[in-house]
Amino acid sequence: MKIYYFKNEFPKFFKEYRSYVLTLLLTIFVIITVNNYENFRSKQMKSLENIYQNIYLHKTLSYISEGLNPRFEKIEYIVQPGESLEKIFSNININEKEKKKILQFISSKKLKLKLIENQKIIFQLDNLGNRKISQITIPITKKKDFVLTYNNQNTFDYAEITKKLTLGKVYKENIIRNSLYKSAIEKQINPSIIVQFAQIYGFQVDFQRDIKKNDSFQIVYEEYKNDENKTVDFGNILYANLILQGKSLELYFFNSKDNKINDHFESNGQSIKKTLMKTPINGARLSSPFGNRKHPILGYTKLHAGTDFAAPMGTPIMASGSGTIIKVGWCGGGGNCVKIRHNSTYTTVYAHMSKFARGIKKGVRVKQAQVIGFVGSTGMSTGPHLHYEVIQNGKKVNSQTLKLPSGKKLKGNEREQFELAKIKIDVLKAELINETN
Ligand SMILES: [Zn+2]
Repeated sequence: MKIYYFKNEFPKFFKEYRSYVLTLLLTIFVIITVNNYENFRSKQMKSLENIYQNIYLHKTLSYISEGLNPRFEKIEYIVQPGESLEKIFSNININEKEKKKILQFISSKKLKLKLIENQKIIFQLDNLGNRKISQITIPITKKKDFVLTYNNQNTFDYAEITKKLTLGKVYKENIIRNSLYKSAIEKQINPSIIVQFAQIYGFQVDFQRDIKKNDSFQIVYEEYKNDENKTVDFGNILYANLILQGKSLELYFFNSKDNKINDHFESNGQSIKKTLMKTPINGARLSSPFGNRKHPILGYTKLHAGTDFAAPMGTPIMASGSGTIIKVGWCGGGGNCVKIRHNSTYTTVYAHMSKFARGIKKGVRVKQAQVIGFVGSTGMSTGPHLHYEVIQNGKKVNSQTLKLPSGKKLKGNEREQFELAKIKIDVLKAELINETN
């Protein structure tokens, strides 16, 4: 019975004091937890303190914090339009005294430091005490830097330093879908290499008419990288192949031991060079061939005694062969023109130029592929183009069908050297192709 009583009374008791009991339990729980947590925290703090007192860690931490605020600091500063060195010193927070000292030094040595927009100047700063410049590096050319260094005698040393460049070799290939130029740019080939490529094929290939869709090219060339792994210059095209309608036109670079030969040759040792180039302009479109046509301005049909190449205003025009300049000036309908005498047989004319290249004067000798002027639309012309004429024994002839004797063919010892050079290039090409795959 007692059990019954208990059973009946306990729930009743519980019901009456339930809220007090729960509050009490909760309070006990909270006290225990907080206490535990405090204990845990103080233990943690102690152990952290112990860790911090550890001399090795101490050293490490001060090393890290020193790294965050270094004594020596390097700033790469990009020159903004019209900025002077003085202005730049203020921008990088160099104190007045230091600023004056350097500027005075530069003017006392009559150093002409040309600052160019977007040029990257490197400052090495010493942050001990007053912020001091310990070194300034200003690029002069792609290959040379001007370096000014603070020395121990409380003044500066300066020098022109040739950058360390690494020579690398690059292989590229592409299918020509639009133009050679576009397909080369697509493969990140630098325009200066494309120009070189066009120049070496300028004797054999008419880039407007000979290249068809799905033709392709392969190229191996040299490039120079600086210590930041940035390509700063290009060397020779060691190998080039233009595959036109399935036919390969392979060219190998050959530099003879005596350095007398420095040129591109076909694989049989035949020089690609001819007296005159077929296309004395790069990337142009042949717009009007040699022959009878209705003159676009005069309106009547007459012999077009030259070849027209449409090209953007300012495109460089090359001397199609080596020779002596016999005329630079106004040619009436031909506008600004240049005439070159190559030998007793050939003379060439270049008309409608916008301007002449520097140093192009009557009597001056020019080399083949040297730039003599720039495309324009002067004289009787409907748009920017080059009018190009070849005069053979006093008679105007079609430059595009003209058969010129081929250049020198390597023989004897030179031929042997060339064959060896060719093998080396082929091996290099195979290795480079392997690397890219
Ligand atoms: Zn013309």
